Amino acid sequence: MNEIVTRFAPSPSGYLHLGHAASAALAFGFAKKNSGKCLLRIEDIDTTRCKEEFEQAIYEDLAWLGFKWPTPTRRQTEHLADYAAVLDKLRDMKLVYRCFKTRKEILNEIARAPHNPGEPYTGPREVMDEGLEKELVAEGKLYAWRLSLYRSQEYLGRQYNRLSFMNNGEKVRAGPAVLGDVILARKDVGTSYHIACCHDDALQGVTDIVRGVDLLDSTHIHCLLQELMGWPVPRYHHHALLVDKDGKRFSKRDKSLTLRALRQSGASPQNTLAHASQLG
Ligand code: GLU
Repeated sequence: MNEIVTRFAPSPSGYLHLGHAASAALAFGFAKKNSGKCLLRIEDIDTTRCKEEFEQAIYEDLAWLGFKWPTPTRRQTEHLADYAAVLDKLRDMKLVYRCFKTRKEILNEIARAPHNPGEPYTGPREVMDEGLEKELVAEGKLYAWRLSLYRSQEYLGRQYNRLSFMNNGEKVRAGPAVLGDVILARKDVGTSYHIACCHDDALQGVTDIVRGVDLLDSTHIHCLLQELMGWPVPRYHHHALLVDKDGKRFSKRDKSLTLRALRQSGASPQNTLAHASQLG
């Protein structure tokens, strides 16, 4: 059997909190239990939100908790050309399209959808007139590259309905429609979490993905991207999210529960991990 490879892939857009410690403990723990390795990956493509200071804190906080990972650590901003190449390929396959609609226009359109109001956005089936598209680009109108579910379905034929992945040991049929035609790149951020994450999981030989259930919807899209790009589908292990005593999930906004704050208030790595292990 191939070596088990997991990863912990935080975004340095804030300090890590107790929820991250729980997720990291599961990912590193899974690798350890299976005599494999857990990689650390810095998902910093959103340069408007990510900061160097938070990245340094990730290294410090994880080391404080006692985790070890192979180096060098992959930092996604150092590999933007790789992700651009994925988008180029999908563009050559005619599976992505430029969407010039504003957020407001999309929201209105979703609300007015005749059959399924409130459903995620899916774009028109017809390809935009080439002349008009060129004009809008030349005018400098903002756009996003979206993955067309309609064209992906046409491209894959029957295979589209057979997409599946393993989640917590059970086979799940992938339904990429859950998020609609997702944005794969914008004019300012030339890639997306979906592309960068799936590209790197394939490149880094990740066999098992341990992450929060808040990303389960994304997994349906990832499964489609993996099929389109010919990447292997890792096994997924989505875990419950850590919630406070009122049932509210921890987020980067809860400053008091950052690993930093806990450490400064005298918590030990052991009780922090014990606290974090009371998941769900
Ligand atoms: N970077 C993502 C986050 O911070 C997690 C990515 C993943 O585990 O797939 O939420």
